[in-house]
Formats: sequence, C-alpha cells, structure tokens
Amino acid sequence: MRAPGNLTVVGLGPGDPQWLTPAASAALVAAQDLVGYHAYLDRVPAMSGQQRHGFDNRSESDRARLALDLASQGRRVAVVSGGDPGVFAMAAAVFEAVDAGPLAWRALDIRVEPGVTAMLAAAARVGAPLGNDFCAISLSDNLKPRAVVEQRLRAALAGDFVIALYNPASLARPGQLGAALRIAAEVRGPETPVIFAHAVGRPDERVAVECLAKAQSMAADMATLVVIGASATRSIDRGSDAIPFVYTPRSIRARC
Ligand code: SAH
Repeated sequence: MRAPGNLTVVGLGPGDPQWLTPAASAALVAAQDLVGYHAYLDRVPAMSGQQRHGFDNRSESDRARLALDLASQGRRVAVVSGGDPGVFAMAAAVFEAVDAGPLAWRALDIRVEPGVTAMLAAAARVGAPLGNDFCAISLSDNLKPRAVVEQRLRAALAGDFVIALYNPASLARPGQLGAALRIAAEVRGPETPVIFAHAVGRPDERVAVECLAKAQSMAADMATLVVIGASATRSIDRGSDAIPFVYTPRSIRARC
C-alpha cells in the first residue's frame, strides 16, 4: 500500500534564519517536495533528493492545488510562505483549495507550522507598539474591493486600534498608502507615531519612525510594513541618530 502523504504549510519568518522555528525547520527537512514562491524557496537551503516547485507571486491557488495533488499521491510536501503562513498567505489558499476540491483532500494530513509575522518582527525593532489592542489590515486590492479596505481602515481608526498595514504599496497602486495616511490624519493627532519597517530581518532592513503629520513623505514598497499608532501610542526620543522607542501603554482610562 502507498505511504500516506502529508502537507505542511511552513512559515519561514520575515527573513533572518534565526527567526525560523525549529519545528518549521524540521518540516522543511522532512519534505520530499517544496512548493512556493521563488523568492521564498531561495531562502531554504538545498537538500539532495528534494524536488522544488517554484511559482511566481500571483499563483497562490495553483501552488495550493499542486501541493494537495502531490500529497494525495503519497508525497511529503511543504508549502513555504514568508512570515506566518496564516497571515495574508498560503495557509488560507490551501484551505480554500481543500474546501473547493475533491473530497479525498479532506482526509489528508495537513498541518500549519507558524512563523514570526512581519508585524511582530517590526514591532520588536522599535519597542512595544502593539502593547495594547491592535489589528492588521492588508491594503492590497487584489482579492478585495478597495472600498472594503477603506471601510475597514476607518472602522479600525474609529476603534482606536493600533493598525498594522500589510501590502502598503505596489506599482499598481502607488497612491494608496498616502490616501490611508490622510484618512488616519483626519482622526489621529499629528504627533501619532508611524513606523515604517522595510525588509525586517533581511540584509537591506531599514526601520524609521515618523510622526503622522510628516509620514506622507516616507517611502514604502511591497517589502514594507507600516504601523500607525493608536491615540495612546508614544514615542520616546533618544537623540538625533537613534530610532525612538515606540510603545502603547497597557492600560486605558475609562472614558465617560
Ligand atoms: N505572511 C506574511 C505576510 C504576507 S503579505 C507575514 O506573516 O509576514 C506581504 C506583506 O508582508 C508585505 O507587503 C509587507 O507589508 C509585509 N512583510 C513581509 N515580510 C516583511 C519584512 N521582512 N519586513 C517588513 N514587512 C514585511
């Protein structure tokens, strides 16, 4: 009888190999097939006898179906994903495919190995900006209407959440982050700290903190995570050359 296959969706973390969990690492070593976006596969050390199936950035559903197909043929498959695979990433694509696919896929051994998501890595670089209630919003309009993005942003601002913005910019939507920051400035004070964390954990990492009034002038690309502070978020100045500490206090006074 053929050995049962399995599929693990593995979070690689933001980039630094030291941020790859031992469990994620073990899942990569155990795999016979690695499936993923080329740039993520490049981060995984080559192992003899392992098959690699590289894809471009847009084909998440194809990646998921190929991985499920391989697992149902008895292969041990790892689908690799940057950061955490459950945060705007491949784990949801795999379960969408299971939901829509052949019934046999539901019996497969499918696991998710978590990773350090960009929001946590970026927050750790500056202090504790996520120290109180926060939310994450993807600004990408590939998979949801732009009106929904704006509606959720306004709701998060009204709720006074710290807001982590994933996918803040792309060539196809150059003005979108600026528009989001203008909406934030309608509600939050000009001194509100905004964190721009580019390529955290990679050689080209750049992290900067700017107040909301000046945040429009900051550059962001697809490798940047932007965090907009809540009304209580504070930055602690450390002199001209040092990045300030940013934190959100744990307690909130009752408002009446
Ligand atoms: N699953 C990933 C997120 C995928 S969405 C995770 O958990 O981190 C892609 C977005 O994540 C990027 O546009 C960027 O906003 C953010 N991102 C991913 N890696 C990053 C890094 N090393 N530094 C800063 N932002 C990153």
